[in-house]
Amino acid sequence: MKAMVLNKLGERLEWTDIADRQLGPGEIRVQVSACGVCRTDLHVVDGELPNPQVPIIPGHEIVGRIDVIGAGVEGLHVGERVGIPWLGHTCGICPYCRGNQENLCDRPLFTGYTRDGGFATATIADARYAFPLGEAGSDVALAPLLCAGLIGWRSLVIAGAGKKLGLYGFGAAAHIVAQVAKWQGRSVFAFTRPGDVSTQAFARSLGAAWAGGSDEAPPELLDAAIIFAVVGDLVPLALKAVRKGGRVICAGIHMSDIPSFPYRLLWEERQIVSVANLQRQDGLDFLRLAPDIGIVTHTTTYPLNQANQALADLRAGRFEGAAVLVP
Ligand SMILES: [Zn+2]
Ligand SMILES: [Zn+2]
Repeated sequence: MKAMVLNKLGERLEWTDIADRQLGPGEIRVQVSACGVCRTDLHVVDGELPNPQVPIIPGHEIVGRIDVIGAGVEGLHVGERVGIPWLGHTCGICPYCRGNQENLCDRPLFTGYTRDGGFATATIADARYAFPLGEAGSDVALAPLLCAGLIGWRSLVIAGAGKKLGLYGFGAAAHIVAQVAKWQGRSVFAFTRPGDVSTQAFARSLGAAWAGGSDEAPPELLDAAIIFAVVGDLVPLALKAVRKGGRVICAGIHMSDIPSFPYRLLWEERQIVSVANLQRQDGLDFLRLAPDIGIVTHTTTYPLNQANQALADLRAGRFEGAAVLVP
């Protein structure tokens, strides 16, 4: 198989031939047909996550078809289309796994970070963490659902049932969450980089009731705000935008430092929480609903060997929606 490999933190991925390896028990091999590019891939490449491992193949929004099945795999068959997300393995025995919080497992493996991911023509996954995708929807359109969609969904659930929802950073995740929130009957208030009128127009085209710069106050106080951008300065701004008892959800795996702010912004039972990883149940819940919601993902495709260009364009904000690599 071929893959785009990160050999050294902070450097370009390299187009590499990789020898096939035998599947272990419980594993499947998947011929990749599409792999989304996530902000977290930039954090992996930049070495911003703890205990980075190289060489590694990034990519954790994988859509493909199973071509080999290892011993002991149940419920999946050769030829089946599956999605492989960020959560690649959990230990099953730590207090978090046993307490229905596998997203916080003490000994997890994460696809594209601590086990090889989908910037490749094929990948090997622990079958228990792969989602059957059925046949509805194109491979490219489904790929961003595997992280932007799933983490967005988990963030939305944690945001609670409030009708007025702020989204800070309108990229791959927010463009999906906006559609889900609208389908649920909520009003979406989209915050972009100040002056980014094209992304504000994109947000309105997806049903946002209001769109403006992150330096602007929304026209009314929000019930909750989800921060997808990696900018810690947004936390006090979002606290200012939510009502008493409102909640601010930090959905990213990495963020710049949060500046100090007056306690009165947190007072009156406002909350700041983070969302870490996903549980398999999040994926099952979201992927079951996705066809009913009629989510339309806006994608920009790149050939697999142009992964460095896709990462650079994501970093620079040169496209709306999500980038997807196609082998
Ligand atoms: Zn565990
Ligand atoms: Zn991701």
